[in-house]
Amino acid sequence: MSDTNTPAIISRSATLDKITALCKRRGFVFQGSDIYGGLKGTWDLGPLGVALNNNIKREWWNMFVDGREDMYGLDASILMNAKVWEASGHTGNFSDPLVEDTETGERYRADHLLKDNGIEAEGLSLGQIDSLILEKGIKSPKGNPLSQARQFNMMFESTIGATAGPEGKVYLRPETAQGIFVNFKNVVDTMSPKLPFGIGQIGKAFRNEIAPREFLFRVREFEQMEIEYFVREGEWEVEFEKWRLNLWDWFDHLGLSRGNVRELEVPENDLAHYSKRTIDFEYNYPGKGFDELAGFAYRTNHDLQAHMKASGKSLEYVEANGTKLVPHVIEPSFGVGRALTAVLCEAYREDTLGDSDDVRTYLKLPNHLAPYLACVSPLLKNKPELVAKARTVFTLLKKEFTNITWDDNGNVGKRYRRQDEIGTPYCIVIDFDTLGENPDLLDMVTIRHRDSGEQERVAISDIASRLK
Ligand code: ATP
Repeated sequence: MSDTNTPAIISRSATLDKITALCKRRGFVFQGSDIYGGLKGTWDLGPLGVALNNNIKREWWNMFVDGREDMYGLDASILMNAKVWEASGHTGNFSDPLVEDTETGERYRADHLLKDNGIEAEGLSLGQIDSLILEKGIKSPKGNPLSQARQFNMMFESTIGATAGPEGKVYLRPETAQGIFVNFKNVVDTMSPKLPFGIGQIGKAFRNEIAPREFLFRVREFEQMEIEYFVREGEWEVEFEKWRLNLWDWFDHLGLSRGNVRELEVPENDLAHYSKRTIDFEYNYPGKGFDELAGFAYRTNHDLQAHMKASGKSLEYVEANGTKLVPHVIEPSFGVGRALTAVLCEAYREDTLGDSDDVRTYLKLPNHLAPYLACVSPLLKNKPELVAKARTVFTLLKKEFTNITWDDNGNVGKRYRRQDEIGTPYCIVIDFDTLGENPDLLDMVTIRHRDSGEQERVAISDIASRLK
């Protein structure tokens, strides 16, 4: 367990409901298929959500792939030969225990219902779940009796090609990891990497969750950022420790306070049979408490062995001295949506800026994640000379940073509030002094800072370096 775990922040103004409302109001995240009443477990990213999501993925790729010598990128297909999922065990085992409300037919995750009733349900058999439900008198959230528990496979099925039939069965991948394992040999053959090395991938995954809930936390279509880091068996502990610290660096980079992230060491009796050690990294989601943000596991060489056996192809790695081995693997696995939710929860603030009674909402996003780095505007939109000068500044900055926005709606105070709410760190205003009304301030703009509301005068030629 990490010694970096400090007490969590106690008082926070964010709630998942407030975040969901802000996301909708300001164009971050919309309910999927909204005009048709929605589709449960799907969410669409709006203009600002795409920007934030892309920034998270870019930073992850920079830190874990491009920023390292021992990592290689991959983008495998979502559709894979069904034999992949047989070999990985997903066809047989990728399921959650399901119970139904016997009156309404609504379906629930049995383990979640038990957990809501204070019972730890990890790893229980269906029989044990049924007995506990009976023994404790657990009812559905609607107060009705529950059916017996059964396993529900979470993979979405489809059929490939024109002819239906078992041979055409495909699944939407429930994780990106298997795309990495089946390409292991391709990467080794083409890139000649030296152990230890890893392969990183970002892509969509699909799970037919029984009960999607809590905004982006549990959805049916989501993005993962996954790494399989291949090591010699004898070095797994050393490499595991290095990656554990790397994960903390990543959460720091997302701006998550250490008190709101913690490690949950999965007890030995709950580990998957092939895993020697697993740590769930949890985030303290407001109103929900600590729950999984990312998974981190030592998976031995179970997956490569399973694919070797099922495909009949060698997935051995040949050392410089000719020794052959099937590498072991350390897997840090991140969900983009859960990271995005954590980033928003962490950044969400309400305050009254100075002596004003007016409560403002703002997102204290790190500069490298904010959808817009700066907003440029003329003090007044009906003064062509101000607009022209502001346009010059906007074009200049847009060339250098791209994520610069323009806003000339309403008065300047309202613009500040709007930009605060979407987390824009800087507002740049061009006024009459910029045009030389006060000769000392010619070609100087006002830069207003999101968090403090403070303003400073900066020469146009210095803005770019001020924003970096
Ligand atoms: P949980 O126990 O919460 O269902 P899991 O242990 O099944 O998660 P993994 O299979 O380890 O999750 O997947 C790796 C990461 O993918 C998770 O840490 C999470 O960030 C993300 N993830 C998994 N399932 C979902 C989902 N349904 N919606 C959003 N993100 C998900």
